[in-house]
Amino acid sequence: MSTGPAPGFGRAKKALGQHFLHEQAYIERIVDAVSPRPGDRVVEIGPGQGALTLPLLRRHGALTVIEFDRDLIAPLTRAAAGDGELEVIHRDVLEVDFTALAGDGPPLRVVGNLPYNISSPILFHMIDHSAAIADMHFMLQKEVVERMAAAPGSREYGRLSVMLQAACLVMPLFEVPPQAFRPPPKVDSAVVRLAPRPAGEAGIDDPARFAAVVRAAFGQRRKTLRNALSGLCGPEHFEAAGVDPGSRAERLSLEEFVRLSNASATG
Ligand code: SAM
Repeated sequence: MSTGPAPGFGRAKKALGQHFLHEQAYIERIVDAVSPRPGDRVVEIGPGQGALTLPLLRRHGALTVIEFDRDLIAPLTRAAAGDGELEVIHRDVLEVDFTALAGDGPPLRVVGNLPYNISSPILFHMIDHSAAIADMHFMLQKEVVERMAAAPGSREYGRLSVMLQAACLVMPLFEVPPQAFRPPPKVDSAVVRLAPRPAGEAGIDDPARFAAVVRAAFGQRRKTLRNALSGLCGPEHFEAAGVDPGSRAERLSLEEFVRLSNASATG
């Protein structure tokens, strides 16, 4: 299998997490999972050489893409000519204000085979803008998708699971093997759908407080909650929340984290 550049494009850049999808069957499955409908505003993160961009554009007629690698932009624009209306934003996705991008229009449908080296920061960034997003379809490291969807008590359960599940419904869709990419990554991949929950649905009174409690609890996951949260939650807060202070973060459900952070936020 060739790992050289596609015609018109340079070599893949490792530092930018460039692993380009080339297996048609997986490309079609992702585009089918998104199934853009008339009027949808579709935004792709990291279009690369256009593996998803071109089929999405042909199907939907319009697409906004966010790409950091300047070298990819001219060949991508050329490749897309005649396929539809392509808006290219040349920027680091972590600096894109998705709320402003959505503006007064419909909430965004975001798609991306993400650069794996910065997938967690991207996911946290998207959570911050989830009110402006209708749904997201992301290709990620399989292990990251397992962490996102993990249930309390499992080895994979952690801060990413709690923070994402507080903000979104997390639906793992299917796995993708390394050979589907050029060059192949060293890990298995998976596609996940994220559907932001309506504002307030998780019942969190103070999002900053909730984030601080979750961060501290998993920052020292081997300690009991009493110790890990000593600066944030006292015995009265555990009692008010109905949470055992002798338990550990990995055992606590999302609802228990919400109750504990709400109890500690109110005094
Ligand atoms: N979508 C293409 C595909 O499926 O073949 C490329 C996917 S590749 C895994 C990740 C893409 O994200 C690359 O095009 C890379 O240049 C781009 N990228 C990396 N870091 C980025 C960043 N901070 N902001 C925007 N794009 C980035």
